[in-house]
Amino acid sequence: MRYFADYHTHTDFSGDSQAPMELMVKRGVELGLSELVFTDHVDYDYADPVFEKIDFQDYINSFKYCKEKYRKDIKLLMGVEIGYQAHVESRIEDLLTKVDFDFVIYSTHMADKLDFYTGAFFNGKERELAYNRYFENVLQSIRAPANFNVYGHLDFIVRYGHYDSKSLSYLEHAAIIDKILRDIIYGGCGIEINTSGYRYGLGQMHPQEDIIRRYYKMGGEIITVGSDAHHPQELCSDFNAAYTLLREIGYKYINAYEERKARFIKIP
Ligand SMILES: [Zn+2]
Ligand SMILES: [Zn+2]
Repeated sequence: MRYFADYHTHTDFSGDSQAPMELMVKRGVELGLSELVFTDHVDYDYADPVFEKIDFQDYINSFKYCKEKYRKDIKLLMGVEIGYQAHVESRIEDLLTKVDFDFVIYSTHMADKLDFYTGAFFNGKERELAYNRYFENVLQSIRAPANFNVYGHLDFIVRYGHYDSKSLSYLEHAAIIDKILRDIIYGGCGIEINTSGYRYGLGQMHPQEDIIRRYYKMGGEIITVGSDAHHPQELCSDFNAAYTLLREIGYKYINAYEERKARFIKIP
């Protein structure tokens, strides 16, 4: 199967990737993609400062170099994945006025200034309390001036908890998840289908199927598909599953972005 594009990828401009931008492009060309979007990390005041340190001048130069060199083979777009936290909102707004991104993902990688990866956020919290508090943080970020295009890996919280079963019950958190989805839809924004959950052995994409179905039912139309690749070999991983599920739910289109504006593309 041919894929349209990968809308969530990292290069070595992200603190947790060693992949040179050009190698990602070459892999994208090899896969026959029409488009490839770089969404390197910006996480202001993250527990590990390596995620703040992106050099935008370098990033832009490298992007322009690849865009020009491969312009006949693939359309490249410059995006960003911003780790939202309420207390860094003005820094985020400042960044978004200074740099002309084609596409912006907001993600919640920390809640209440505590990080998931090291487990700090989960300490002393029962699972449902932790999950609920995570969604409260997500809701807060969506109610901030809606500067993003899609929300990243909406149920990311299931990745790092130390619980025997990390599974998330939509019904248990339906009220707040519905508020989040409603605000995303009313704000003219969307969600992404992030296939990295499979690579983490979670047996699901983000968000999990019942949340995508709920989004569809509520009228959610805008969806991008991304692998969250940090390595060329991870580009478009499990996209068959993503496209199949979207079609099964009833979706006919996924989205592409340029200069922050959405277009609808028929699911291949
Ligand atoms: Zn992320
Ligand atoms: Zn990512």
